[in-house]
Amino acid sequence: MAKYVYFFSKEFVEGSAEMKDILGGKGANLAEMCRIGLPVPPGFTISAEVCDYYYKHNHTYPPELEEQVNEALEKLEKIRGRKLGDPKKPLLVSVRSGAAVSMPGMMDTVLNLGLNEKTLEALAEETDNPRFAWDAYRRLIQMFGDVVLGIPHEEFEHAIEEVKREFGKRQNIEGIDEMTQEQLNKLVPDTALTVDDLKELVKKYMEIYEKHGKTFPQDVNEQLWMAIGAVFGSWNNPRAVKYREIHNIKGLLGTAVNIQTMVFGNLGEDSGTGVGFTRNPSTGENKLYGEYLLNAQGEDVVAGIRTPKPIDELKNEMPKVYEELLKIKDILEKHYRDVQDFEFTIERGKLWMLQTRTGKRTAQAAVKIAVDMVKEGLIDKKTAILRIDPNSIDQLLHPTFDPEEEKKAKVIARGLPASPGAATGRVVFNAEEAEKWAKNGEAVILTRLETSPEDIGGMAVSKGILTARGGMTSHAAVVARGMGIPCVAGAGDIAIDYDNKQFKVGDVVVKQGDWISINGALGTVYLGKIPTIEPEVAGDFKTIMDWADEFRKIGVHTNADTPRDTAVAVKFGAEGIGLCRTEHMFFEGNRIVSFRKMILVADEVKTLRQRLEELPEDSEEYEKVKKELEQPLAQYNQALEELLPLQREDFIGIFRELGGRPATIRLLDPPLHEFLPKDEKGQQEMAEAMNVPVEKVKRTVEELHEFNPMLGHRGCRLGLTYPEVTEMQVRAIIEAAIQVKREGIEVRPEIMVPLVGHWKELQLTREVIDRTAKKVFEELGEKVEYKVGTMIEVPRGAITADEVAQYADFFSFGTNDLTQMGSGFSRDDAGKFLKDYVRMGIYDEDPFQVLDQTGIGRLMKIAVKYGRQTNPDLKVGICGEHGGEPKSVMFCHRIGLDYVSCSPYRVPVARLAAAQAAILYGEPGKEIEGEKLW
Ligand code: PEP
Ligand code: MG
Repeated sequence: MAKYVYFFSKEFVEGSAEMKDILGGKGANLAEMCRIGLPVPPGFTISAEVCDYYYKHNHTYPPELEEQVNEALEKLEKIRGRKLGDPKKPLLVSVRSGAAVSMPGMMDTVLNLGLNEKTLEALAEETDNPRFAWDAYRRLIQMFGDVVLGIPHEEFEHAIEEVKREFGKRQNIEGIDEMTQEQLNKLVPDTALTVDDLKELVKKYMEIYEKHGKTFPQDVNEQLWMAIGAVFGSWNNPRAVKYREIHNIKGLLGTAVNIQTMVFGNLGEDSGTGVGFTRNPSTGENKLYGEYLLNAQGEDVVAGIRTPKPIDELKNEMPKVYEELLKIKDILEKHYRDVQDFEFTIERGKLWMLQTRTGKRTAQAAVKIAVDMVKEGLIDKKTAILRIDPNSIDQLLHPTFDPEEEKKAKVIARGLPASPGAATGRVVFNAEEAEKWAKNGEAVILTRLETSPEDIGGMAVSKGILTARGGMTSHAAVVARGMGIPCVAGAGDIAIDYDNKQFKVGDVVVKQGDWISINGALGTVYLGKIPTIEPEVAGDFKTIMDWADEFRKIGVHTNADTPRDTAVAVKFGAEGIGLCRTEHMFFEGNRIVSFRKMILVADEVKTLRQRLEELPEDSEEYEKVKKELEQPLAQYNQALEELLPLQREDFIGIFRELGGRPATIRLLDPPLHEFLPKDEKGQQEMAEAMNVPVEKVKRTVEELHEFNPMLGHRGCRLGLTYPEVTEMQVRAIIEAAIQVKREGIEVRPEIMVPLVGHWKELQLTREVIDRTAKKVFEELGEKVEYKVGTMIEVPRGAITADEVAQYADFFSFGTNDLTQMGSGFSRDDAGKFLKDYVRMGIYDEDPFQVLDQTGIGRLMKIAVKYGRQTNPDLKVGICGEHGGEPKSVMFCHRIGLDYVSCSPYRVPVARLAAAQAAILYGEPGKEIEGEKLW
């Protein structure tokens, strides 16, 4: 019989931490904590396989389930000496979701299940605290209504508000009717309500149920099964689906359901509830970290409605419990060898652990923790490197505020440093607005009293998040840290007025659309914008990067077009330039004018030259055409002459910055029409600037128009038609190289030919390159070593790599074009449907972002294998966008590339991913060994 239910208690445990796939993270770790002797209220977990079954079988359960649940329940009742629904000694349980990957706050939870009008009395008597019993009951009714029956929770909130106002009137509090909810909650906290108030509240709740045509089940079994159904149902609620989409969580069975004995943190001032981290998740500091609330129940801390106290204060309020927590911190870390994020409840002075999981942390904390744990001997360097998500490294490379400017800025509020980083943006007050503004390219700071899981879409697109309420583990703080977005939480001085779309702090009024800045590492909020400065690889970050380099076996180069980008990349550890796109240089300053001058006559020059070639030299026609060619040719040559020194200067700058590292410089690639203005106004301006009739400009634009420009007259096709352009570029590269060499700096130019599909294209282009280089050597009386290679970005080039390699010193995969041409997706237009393709599961991820290893990867394997068969010294790299994407970098390692090349800010990401690949896969190239390539 299939097993669907797993028991956990101090005496008897069936699950373990290894069983996350079926027990979910929460269930697996509750079992594990029982195993290591931590105090866990006993319970059982219904496997995520049931969730899978539920969705595959039209929302029904496997037939065995009921019996297995009943059995587990009986066992639990026996251990506790209580029974679900018993009018004397009732067992109360929580019903909570928990998938294999944690999705904080996304799915549903019901607490205090098992209470009804009868068991309520028993609880009141047993605890000698009717107030507590009624409070637990009203919470159950509220959660059950919201979570299980879908009654809007605002209606329950509204009912509490009414009861609180009545309370206030009884106490003769002035102006109670005019108070905002915020003020009301401060003056009349939940804990102030009396038994009679709570009874009244329950009555109101029941009326809400009635209004929605629902009833609260008094039958506790019915409660249990309805709650189980709601948890499974919550797996596919819109916010959980969106969360999985944003975090790219796929391939899970579903959620498990945990049914666990209730323990109460709201039994009085000797009880409480809290969350803890074994180290600071924001900074990584090795110190117990967390927050708690006395006399409160679970969700109060996370929900951010009451601002909790820092855990340090527990040292004074409950020294014994604090000591025990310190011990648990150690036990957890030694056992899991990683930071744990745990939930606990104190019931009348006794500590209970309700959950533990690997603590989410900022990139900054991840790096510090990994380095510290190596020093403490908890983990080794390899584990440290594998612990850090290369994608998160990006967070460490965000600019920070210029300290001088930050000092001068006006601090308008302070809150908790909930997620580090500097953000400047315009204030918006709800998630929808944030999404709308961000779509229009606006930088926004989402500002809210608190956030909730519904806000997830708006949070993801914000530059920063600011909340007025909530602590370091509030929803806003946890989610922002997960997303790497700066966040200041619980800035209590700001009074948000949603109705008028503004907030006030002191006498400052900030309206929607106004600029503010937040520093998530300090918790400060500033008025206006603050300039930022570039980040550095230093401290623990540098240590991790150095370790990564110790293990890494493939090179990391950069895609850079300017000396400035080159300098940044070298600072981040780039070992050379893997792609210098020379066309970007033509857009700078006045160069575009010279370049356009050339384009205007290029075709005429080409046509007339071809005619000349066909005519006998002594013919009259020959003389006539030669005369005709004179003027356009002069303009053509003059334009190229103007460009030559400018290009040379660029290359000189780059060679100097590189200081002896190799530079792969690619010859002109885009089609010429990309350099011409498309609109009438631009064409008019160009005609005036060039002193030619606008018709001429228009005609050229029309002539150069292509239906599929990406498959058109570009890449080496251009250079073959206009060899003078190649000559000019090669001359600029070689002259620059010689000049820098003469300055005493080593130079290693590598000239790269784009878009080669046929070996003859490379052979002919190489002839022009070698001829030009030779000429420059002779003119200058000095030589430099240079290499000539090709991009592999046309499928034909990849599958005939053995032929192409005859003329290449190196290959560099242009996986942007190779993905485009190999899959038949236009780079410019595929965005329209690729999202749907990913949603439908045709591709796991956008193939322009994450390399399609099985398809395009296969072309790459062929090219590496056969290219090297022809030329064993062939150096092979990648310079498409995938060169900085961790999974693709690992693939490049596996197929034996010599290096990856990526934009400067992704260099550290690629270094780390390459080290992880070496640790996980050993020597590079294993996947192209042997005859069979796949
Ligand atoms: C590529 O195609 O992958 C490439 C690097 O070249 P570009 O993006 O300039 O076409
Ligand atoms: Mg390309």
